[in-house]
This record gives sequence, structure tokens and C-alpha cells, in this order.
Amino acid sequence: MGPLLRDRVAFVTGAGAGIGRTIARRFAEEGADIAAVDLNGPAAEETAAFVRALGRRAEAIRADVANAHDVQAAAGRALEAFGRIDVLVNNAGITLDATIPEMSEADWDAVLDVHLKGTFLCTRAIAPRMREAGRGAIVNMSSISGKIGNIGQANYSSAKAGLVALTKVTAREFAAHGIRANVIQPGLIGTPPTLERGEAKLREGAAGTPLGRIGTPDEVASVALFLASDMASFVTGAVIEVTGGRHM
Ligand code: NAP
Repeated sequence: MGPLLRDRVAFVTGAGAGIGRTIARRFAEEGADIAAVDLNGPAAEETAAFVRALGRRAEAIRADVANAHDVQAAAGRALEAFGRIDVLVNNAGITLDATIPEMSEADWDAVLDVHLKGTFLCTRAIAPRMREAGRGAIVNMSSISGKIGNIGQANYSSAKAGLVALTKVTAREFAAHGIRANVIQPGLIGTPPTLERGEAKLREGAAGTPLGRIGTPDEVASVALFLASDMASFVTGAVIEVTGGRHM
């Protein structure tokens, strides 16, 4: 079998760091060209440079996924550069944690806007182009927080739960056009925002995980790769937990 994403074009949001950057790199290793989309332009550029070093084409695109104008422009730039988009990974994310009495309306809106509206806007901009092509794969990044509802994460857990429904709607609306949509729910993954929680929290997280450790960005990227590839040709509307067994 050849590379899993040979000559596919992937539009990856939040590609400037963490899981998104790892997905961009893994996809490029499997033959994909990458539109690396991030709020942080220089970080997107760095990811694009990694991809080019692997011998694939890359376009770094600075965009706020919560802004409809930015999203349209980003999709337009990717289509201009590559001619089509085969894979959309809605991964960009932020957290602004506080318990409900302490949470500001602005922080509620900001988190919902990036995760839920951002995924809607990118899907609305790109899925119709996939429909014209008669094929496509969409991978949305939820969180196990959207299944269990974490204390201090009313905004984040609600957005991540909403992504499950949005993914299923996407899967149903586009299935007849050869487009699949699936959603990943990672547990604790060792990216900078997680590592910043401190040693004690990480130890506690690992102890509460049947596999006894936190996960790596590569372990999430592998599942995204599977879902984006033809290996998952009969998988749509699925919610895949990547948690080491935590909260199963
Ligand atoms: P990360 O390291 O903070 O990377 C997220 C990237 O998204 C950053 O480059 C960030 O840019 C970018 N971004 C933020 N807001 C954006 C916007 N409005 N438009 C475009 N880009 C934006 O986070 P991560 O840990 O890799 O998480 C990636 C995804 O996995 C998120 O959806 C997260 O909720 C989910 N997830 C992560 C974990 C975990 O344990 N790490 C667990 C479950 C789910 P800036 O740096 O400029 O903000």
C-alpha cells in the first residue's frame, strides 16, 4: 500500500501548534499537501516550512476561524494554491476556564465562537467544494470534556459536545456526495496547554487513565490520519475517543 494520503490536499486549522501541527506533519509524511491555517501567522509559516522540508507543498494562511470573512478568504487561498481541498481538519481551539459564576459572557462567546462556530464556518466554506468533487473527509476535534462536562469548562465542554452533533449533521447532509465526517475526542494530550497545568495535575491525570499516562499529539494525529484516509471509507458520523481509556 502507498502513502495513505497520496496527493490529497488537507486544510488544517490550528496548524501552528500542538496537535494541529502534528497532524499537518503526519499528513505530509503520508503524501498530502497542506494548507496550514492558524491565528498565529508565523507559527503557520513554521508548520508550512516543516511540510515543505518533507517534500510536499504547503501554504501558510493566517486566519481567525471564528471570523466568516477570514474563513472565506482562507478557503479561497487554499483553493487557488492547490485547486481543491480533499480533507478538512477542524482543530483550532482555545480554553478560557472558569466556574459558571465566574465565567464572563465574553469568555463564553469566545470559546463557543472558535470551536463551534469556527467548525461550522470552515465546513460551510469547504464542504460544498468537496461536494462538487464528489469526495472529501472532514475530521473535527472535540474533547472528552464534551462527553463528561469538566468543572470550570462550561464554555469548552458545551462547545465540544456541540461538535459531536455538528459532525453528525455534516455526515448526514453530505454522505450522498461521498463526503465523510467524523469527530475525535482526545483525553489528556501532552501539548503546551496541557503541560502548563503542572506536574501534580499531570500525575493525577495519568493515574486516572487506564493506560497509566497522558497521550501524545502523534497518537491523536494517527487517528486523524486514519479518519482522513480511505482506510476509513465506511466510517462516518463516528465519535472516536483517544483517551487511554479514561472516561470510557
Ligand atoms: P494548542 O497547542 O493551543 O494549539 C491550538 C492552535 O490553534 C494554536 O496555534 C492557536 O493559535 C490556534 N488557534 C486558536 N484560536 C484560533 C482561531 N480563532 N483561529 C485559528 N487558529 C486558532 O492546542 P492543542 O492542545 O494542540 O489542541 C488542539 C485541539 O485539540 C483543540 O481543539 C483542543 O480543544 C483539542 N484537544 C486538546 C487536548 C489536549 O489535551 N491537548 C485534549 C482534548 C482536545 P494561538 O497560539 O495564536 O492561540
